[in-house]
Amino acid sequence: MTKKINNYEIVKGLIDATVKKMSLNRSVYNILSEPQNVVEVAIPVQMDDGSINVIKGYRSQHNNALGPYKGGIRFHQDVDIDEVKALSAWMTLKCALLNVPFGGSKGGVVVDPRELSPGELERLSRGYIRAISPILGMDIDIPAPDVGTDGRVMGWMLDEFSRYKNYGEFGMITGKPIIVGGSLGRVEATSRGAMFIIREAARAMGINMKGAEVVVQGFGNVGGNAVKILHEVGCRILAVSDVYGGVYNPKGLDVPSLQEYYAQNGTLKDFPGSQNIGNKELLTLKCDILVPAAVENQITGQNAANINAKIVAEAANGPTTPDADKILAERKILVLPDVLTNAGGVTVSYFEWVQNRYGYYWSEDEVNDRLERKMVEAFNTIYSLYRNRKDVDMRGAAYMVAIERIYEAMRVRGWLG
Ligand code: GLU
Repeated sequence: MTKKINNYEIVKGLIDATVKKMSLNRSVYNILSEPQNVVEVAIPVQMDDGSINVIKGYRSQHNNALGPYKGGIRFHQDVDIDEVKALSAWMTLKCALLNVPFGGSKGGVVVDPRELSPGELERLSRGYIRAISPILGMDIDIPAPDVGTDGRVMGWMLDEFSRYKNYGEFGMITGKPIIVGGSLGRVEATSRGAMFIIREAARAMGINMKGAEVVVQGFGNVGGNAVKILHEVGCRILAVSDVYGGVYNPKGLDVPSLQEYYAQNGTLKDFPGSQNIGNKELLTLKCDILVPAAVENQITGQNAANINAKIVAEAANGPTTPDADKILAERKILVLPDVLTNAGGVTVSYFEWVQNRYGYYWSEDEVNDRLERKMVEAFNTIYSLYRNRKDVDMRGAAYMVAIERIYEAMRVRGWLG
């Protein structure tokens, strides 16, 4: 069996390299290499047959130098403590990079939500949030959806937290249903943000978005909406997959029919006018833009030499390992790092939180315009640093910009002595 890749070790390595490159005080690394607070909870959940299952959950609060902790909650059978810590560190970097006044956190529950009935899912969601309620709040730590959770889960969590507090604190969670303070545009925000980053990178590389050939791994909220939005702006979607496998048409998939097919059948498999394709094979298809939009560690030292794209746009968190990064850089494939590419989600979460504070809500166009401005600004900052320095890739440049801001906040707050 191959050893499981540890993303927490990976992110610590990247922070270490950045702190050294920037010749920062060593305490910056010492602080950022450990989450400030990690809790582990055991949640008793009553199953439909009356039995009680005790399910493990975590919340890692990585750093709050720039503002309250912020980060999603993942429900997935492979969740473990180191994954949650890594995801929380990425949130700290992402928020800093986008100039969103939050720190970073992440929650995880070790469960396959597809195996739960709606009632069991609701009891688990409520049980988890109840267990971590003392460390949450709109000025403390603000959860949101991630892999395996969605607006419906956020609705239950908001309700459970409100019972705990005895009043409705709408800004304590984002990605909520619109009717209880959610923001227009939040569901598509990660994918729309990724599209803006891909568009800017394509422009810089002289690739025309109209007709650009795109392959997307993942068909959840992020992958599914990325396919839709990239198709809307004129890209040709050659292939897409979910956990069970994907479909491929070298001339481009008929995206509206594919969405309809998926909604009806719950699978991409056997979509008319396409050939079925495995997830591994999909990653190595020839295309202009490859969009990993599923989970970590998909592009590794094993398959990086076979990637056949000009741009890899990380809509997922942590899809590319450091050894793959090196190989892709040697092969002149531009990697658009996760902390930039998928930061549209938390950016609109921030807009949601602002709207909750005001109690005044924006139109979808206003949300999307503000998102576009923030994403383009972050892209330009990182891209020009990457072009000017020549000794960093886009990920290295993103880490430098983010860590510089976190460092500055920690310095003025006196955390560095
Ligand atoms: N789970 C998303 C992420 O990884 C969004 C987090 C948020 O909106 O707080 O960026």
